[in-house]
Amino acid sequence: MSQARLMEGTALARRTLETTAKRAAHLTERTGQAPCLATVLVGEDPASVTYVRMKRNRCRAAGIESRHVALPAATTTEELVGVLRTLSHDPAVHGILLQHPMGAHIDERAAFEAIAPEKDVDGVTFASFATMSFGLPGFVSCTPGGIMRLLDEYDVDPAGKRAVVVGRSAILGKPAGMLLLARDATVTYCHSRTRDLSAAVREADIVVAAVGRPRLIKGQDIKPGAVVVDAGYNAGNVGDVDFDSAAERASLITPVPGGVGPMTIATLLEQTVDAAARQTGDRGV
Ligand code: NAP
Repeated sequence: MSQARLMEGTALARRTLETTAKRAAHLTERTGQAPCLATVLVGEDPASVTYVRMKRNRCRAAGIESRHVALPAATTTEELVGVLRTLSHDPAVHGILLQHPMGAHIDERAAFEAIAPEKDVDGVTFASFATMSFGLPGFVSCTPGGIMRLLDEYDVDPAGKRAVVVGRSAILGKPAGMLLLARDATVTYCHSRTRDLSAAVREADIVVAAVGRPRLIKGQDIKPGAVVVDAGYNAGNVGDVDFDSAAERASLITPVPGGVGPMTIATLLEQTVDAAARQTGDRGV
């Protein structure tokens, strides 16, 4: 029987998007220019095509313009960098999203670094990682940013708590840990070379699962009363946490789907409006 309370990302994301849409409308009215997000997709990977379409649809619904650049799979790093630099210099574009992962032939880091930091609304550049890690104003990586919003919404204060982040990817695990650290949690990172993952998870007041392995984290390893955030999304709508057994012991837990996922897009759009406000000098939003 499930005892944990659900941390519902769908409802919070809806409210966040409503606020973002209002801010976008006000900004458009005051500046005569709608916030604009450029999406860049290399190749036609079906999951990436779907993600980009979802993001563009949400933009449209929120009154954010979206400009899409579709590049062939054979695009070179140099060509991609050129496209991203052009968008970085285009005053009509306020935010840039480069959909990833990309083909192995592309130097992903070189591509990300071609995005101007002031337009890095997906929080993927070195500059964004640094500001995020120091708790300074800037753009956060969207999924970790969404996780922090969920924790705030459910009154989970990370200060002084033991947070265990399972996964250390540049876009998810690593920034999630840095955001928790910036909020004074005591953070442990686990990864594929961690010895005795169970023992590490058992210490956690807050568990963030960001692995991509279905139901890797079992309820028996969840400390009673812990907060469990499952960012994993695996085939069959399954997270990285074994939901049923974890919900028996956790105080709060995110569902999959409907937990972390919806917050990612909401954060992206919110940051696009933030970027437009900064670039147009509009202080009203
Ligand atoms: P990733 O780049 O593949 O990274 C996975 C991480 O998990 C790596 O750090 C890896 O360790 C670690 N790992 C792998 N096997 C492990 C094991 N057995 N024990 C402990 N750690 C292990 O994946 P990602 O892009 O961060 O995504 C992770 C998950 O989040 C996926 O399910 C993805 O679909 C989901 N995701 C969701 C959203 C959303 O909006 N909800 C957004 C992005 C990603 P090493 O570093 O040692 O290899």
